[in-house]
Amino acid sequence: MDIPRIFTISESEHRIHNPFTSEKYATLGHVLCMKPDTRILDLGSGSGEMLCTWARDYAITGIGIDMSQLFSEQAKLRAEELGVSNRVHFFHNDATGYIAQEKCDVAACVGATWIAGGFSGTIELLAKSLKPGGIILIGEPYWRQLPATEEIAKACGATSLTDFLSLPELISTFDKLGYDVVEMVLADQEGWDRYEAAKWMTMHRWLKINPNDDFAKEIRTELTVAPKRHVTYTREYFGWGVFALIAR
Ligand code: SAH
Repeated sequence: MDIPRIFTISESEHRIHNPFTSEKYATLGHVLCMKPDTRILDLGSGSGEMLCTWARDYAITGIGIDMSQLFSEQAKLRAEELGVSNRVHFFHNDATGYIAQEKCDVAACVGATWIAGGFSGTIELLAKSLKPGGIILIGEPYWRQLPATEEIAKACGATSLTDFLSLPELISTFDKLGYDVVEMVLADQEGWDRYEAAKWMTMHRWLKINPNDDFAKEIRTELTVAPKRHVTYTREYFGWGVFALIAR
């Protein structure tokens, strides 16, 4: 069980696997007033940067589930590095349908809402692990600029224009689902650069070391097209944010 190899190669050196930066995660932890022993569940926890740094800065406790073996290992190493392995625990597993045994103060899915078929399904899933009055965190892309055609939407990497909403539509949908949006921290274009452009150097290094790997051709193609795709489409058309929700 693992995620497609393209991610574990191109994002092998990422600490954060989305357009958030360490500053954005710090801001989010600060505005949410994380406190000692706040219990957090993180589905699709990646390399664990959110839980590890919040454990260091606020003494939260947490569980992260991620389907990438590599990222889960990196998360455990990061926890050791920051001296918080007693507070946060990472498990390599499919998070589909995961419900925590002990209810949490915060239940998060930051950039992996396909786990439950989109953000609405993910909110429903996370709610099952949450104490009454707890906070749900959803990290999700939205159209920063609406593509004029389906072709542009596809060039952005979406299967269709309807894959994503505009920011006002996204906020309205949280409302319709019965949630108050109590905070939000949005990524910016520089954050997209950190996420996307950082993959290029990693792919370049990987190609030098693994020229004869079965996957080299795919990585070669990706490294050629990715910068153009990023500046033409991703950087311009996609917004991304983490939204803090509390059931009304
Ligand atoms: N929240 C993390 C990672 C976001 S990227 C961060 O902020 O860095 C999406 C993550 O979802 C990847 O780490 C990927 O391995 C994980 N993932 C994908 N499908 C999954 C599934 N079915 N169950 C658990 N994790 C999954």
